[in-house]
Amino acid sequence: MTEQSTAIFGSFVLTELDGAPRVLRDHWVLTEGGRIAALTTERPRADIVLDAPGRIVLPGLMNLHNHCFSEAVARTHSEDGAGRKNNESIVYTVLLPLTKRGIEILSREERMAVARLGILQLLKGGATSVMEPFRNGIPEMFDAAEEMGIRFWGAPYLFSTADAKADASGEVTYAGDDGAADLAAWDALHARWEGAAHGRIRLAMSPHATDTCAPDLLRACAARARELGVPITTHLAQSPQEVATIGRRHGGRTPAEYLDWLGLLAPDLLAAHCISSSDSDLDLMAARGATVLNCPRVFARAGTTASYARFRAHDVRTVIGTDGYNMDLLGEMNAAALISKITTGRADVATAPELLGAVTRDAAAAVGRNDLGAIRPGATADLTVVDLTHPHLQPLHDPLRALAWLANRANIDAVMVDGRLLLHGGTLLVGDEHAITAAGARAIQRIWDLPEARAAFAG
Ligand SMILES: [Zn+2]
Repeated sequence: MTEQSTAIFGSFVLTELDGAPRVLRDHWVLTEGGRIAALTTERPRADIVLDAPGRIVLPGLMNLHNHCFSEAVARTHSEDGAGRKNNESIVYTVLLPLTKRGIEILSREERMAVARLGILQLLKGGATSVMEPFRNGIPEMFDAAEEMGIRFWGAPYLFSTADAKADASGEVTYAGDDGAADLAAWDALHARWEGAAHGRIRLAMSPHATDTCAPDLLRACAARARELGVPITTHLAQSPQEVATIGRRHGGRTPAEYLDWLGLLAPDLLAAHCISSSDSDLDLMAARGATVLNCPRVFARAGTTASYARFRAHDVRTVIGTDGYNMDLLGEMNAAALISKITTGRADVATAPELLGAVTRDAAAAVGRNDLGAIRPGATADLTVVDLTHPHLQPLHDPLRALAWLANRANIDAVMVDGRLLLHGGTLLVGDEHAITAAGARAIQRIWDLPEARAAFAG
């Protein structure tokens, strides 16, 4: 938390009027301490003044589904079909086992290095907030988030088995039952971190997925989350194999029906992906008020469409996350727009204002935080500033369309969380980018050097 005041000039400032987006011209956003104090046309007095033309000031962008660690393990190993058998998901064949091994062989400082590199990428991707599911053997994610200033919902996984394995047909089998151990580990992390850094660090309950979590564990997770008032996040309907597995195990239920049966489908649930959901599953999610975490790029990578517009057509609250890959929220919005228009054959779905709303207002609502996701006096001072003066963003008629269609992470100028500038001029202020990048890459290389990594990626 900062005691300082900051004044930021926006040639454009994204606000809302009666629930609709409204872009103000030539306004100053004044923050004092951790709050937005005023929106003015007069230049205010402040300790720090950012007075550059051609910027748009946005509510801090919220990235509610990301994995700094496990996707780093797969990066540039899994594109173009590499590392995949029959074009199937790599979650159980590559990401989970190699992350588990990686955690075991890396030192605490190396795990910190991976965590710092991920958070650096998130901040440079424009995010002020992240919800980050990760294996509970990487508590360093919390340390790195505290150190680097990002708003953080840490979501340490719970599994019914620590060693989920997929057989040749894609069915996930359990090697043991240690859900109780994961719940105890989660409780310990909650006791240590919930509310740390003046409330900037929070936890989410994070049962990994429908096919790695048995009914008893899911019921226990829901009960504990609601006792503590933390959001619940999980992976849901990620693949046709998951749908088949849950149907076989649980009397023909779909994954969404399975969660509904156990009482998890509710406004406090954020469910990642849902690409194999049926239309009636999506209607059920809408009726229960659950949120879909839409991550279009990781699926596009494997030839699968994860269409924001499809979820919205069923009236499900839908937000956009980066799933640890290409942690560029502007780029992810662009992918959401493209894929939505292709899947519907319509140009007028997934519009720029709608997508910006998804990563601000809708995301804030999904975590029950109406102090976030908006620029208005009294709101928490989380802001993302984009420089619209780059040649590829000129000439400029509509700044929101420019953000969704032409801009990318290289245009992020400033990121502020709780009134503290973490990034300015596109450069990290709270650490040495080059050192963080080199150390993170070196740590991941240690995992890639493992014989099982070479075998997995050769397969
Ligand atoms: Zn995920």
